[in-house]
Amino acid sequence: PATTPTPDQPTERSAALLEQARAVTPGGVNSPVRAFRAVGGTPRFIRSATGPWLTDVDGNRYVDLVCSWGPMILGHTHPDVLAAVTDAAGRGFSFGTPSENEVALAGEIVARTPVEQVRLVSSGTEATMSALRLARGATGRSKVVKFAGCYHGHVDALLASAGSGVATFALPDSAGVPESSASETIVLPYNDLAALEAAFAEHGEQIACVITEACPGNMGVVPPVPGFEEGLRRVTREHGALLISDEVMTGFRCSPSGWFGAEASASIEADLFTFGKVMGGGFPAAAFGGSAELMSRLAPDGPVYQAGTLSGNPVATAAGLATLRGCTPEVYAHLDSVARTIADAASRELTTAGVPHTVQWAGSMFSVFFRDQPVRTYDDAKSQDTGAFSRFFTAMLQQGVHLPPSAFEAWFVSAAHDEAAVEQVLAALPAAARAAGN
Ligand code: PLP
Repeated sequence: PATTPTPDQPTERSAALLEQARAVTPGGVNSPVRAFRAVGGTPRFIRSATGPWLTDVDGNRYVDLVCSWGPMILGHTHPDVLAAVTDAAGRGFSFGTPSENEVALAGEIVARTPVEQVRLVSSGTEATMSALRLARGATGRSKVVKFAGCYHGHVDALLASAGSGVATFALPDSAGVPESSASETIVLPYNDLAALEAAFAEHGEQIACVITEACPGNMGVVPPVPGFEEGLRRVTREHGALLISDEVMTGFRCSPSGWFGAEASASIEADLFTFGKVMGGGFPAAAFGGSAELMSRLAPDGPVYQAGTLSGNPVATAAGLATLRGCTPEVYAHLDSVARTIADAASRELTTAGVPHTVQWAGSMFSVFFRDQPVRTYDDAKSQDTGAFSRFFTAMLQQGVHLPPSAFEAWFVSAAHDEAAVEQVLAALPAAARAAGN
């Protein structure tokens, strides 16, 4: 039976699997941050997950505050999603020709967000890569503006100053991105309208689009300062560039309206949106969308090519549809309340332990930065005490709470985080806060 870990929790099986994995997979992991390099220790190999709980191969049980980096908004193995997936899988895994759930999932996204049409893809990376191609195809321009600390997946043109995973490894850029590709990307500080205006004054006629996270969550949660989003909309319109709002992380997570921007003002609506994570319910499904006119530039109607063997996969779309249908106003109210309880308690214990910190929010998504000043830019985020975070992370893990293994990430809760799960988090915080202060 699974047990709540203690500081001397067994990790032999996870360690042995990591060893085996290293022989056959670079670093032993299929996505770099999973390797725990920033925090040290052994990444836990998970055997099963249900509700808010993860159980590892050594039998330790953890409260999950990663939620697969966002998708598991209803909790793990939610009965409705499991039923939908089981039913879909029983009728076939992939057809390579249209199926009903694709229409229903696209309809659900169109109904909740400003987009008139979406194209389904298999990952957030594909969504932003395709949105970028569409923006370039529609404008006939090549340059792209992105903001330091925003992550839009591992698209060549968007990997510069890309936050989280890249920040964790202190790599300014990725090797293998050709100079020709990077030179089309203009990286600006987030929340800095003057820098944006200066870039457009110099390159305005060559800029196809500005891409921004609706609310950055990949350098930790860094909300746009008042006026920044309005400025993005105004400057892009003035220069005939498109605005792409990346809602892969925030979409359907931060509010019932489905898109983060709705919380600010519909008047700053972007031209293109990207979605992922929650809309796939834990399966590979993502999307990009915009007006019917803009989307008509895509093949087969238009000249911008985009395709995918598994796009609109029947099992993934069934999971996404069941998940979005389960995202009721009550679910969002519960997420808000659980997140507040956990964040308030974390802040209280860190204060008691004398550890400088700041908590920042996007709906129920939040980050605890280990510095006492607000974080408005990537440089701000990088100036936090990552050593304090590592000690905090390790102490939480040893007491049965699985946080994101990087100081540059948001914490995620789910509809399944009940009293028992929250209690386990609250019980772990005092010792972790003391560890952070040591
Ligand atoms: N865009 C944002 C805002 C993200 O947070 C992510 C992933 O974390 C992506 C794009 C890339 O999505 P994926 O990992 O599904 O390729």
